[in-house]
Amino acid sequence: MSSRRWIASQDEGLFKLVGHGIQLAEFYHSHSYCGYCGNNMTASLTKWASLCSHCHKRYYPQIAPCIIVAIRRADHILFSQHRRHKKSQYLLY
Ligand SMILES: [Zn+2]
Repeated sequence: MSSRRWIASQDEGLFKLVGHGIQLAEFYHSHSYCGYCGNNMTASLTKWASLCSHCHKRYYPQIAPCIIVAIRRADHILFSQHRRHKKSQYLLY
């Protein structure tokens, strides 16, 4: 089994596909039961959604793109910045 970090280093398209797959798996796992009436949900055959056959509620996954940003100055990286602080805190890396 490969880690997501290894997949990201190999192929960007594959990494995005794996990321969507993981989020969809979590969505279907966490939407086994209807949040409105409590009955079993079924996965839609035509779209990414969970359907309740009892009350006909429909739930869609929220795919959350994410980025991690490093703000660097020379050989330092920004650690924290807030308007309450008199100056930003940088760490040497
Ligand atoms: Zn329901």
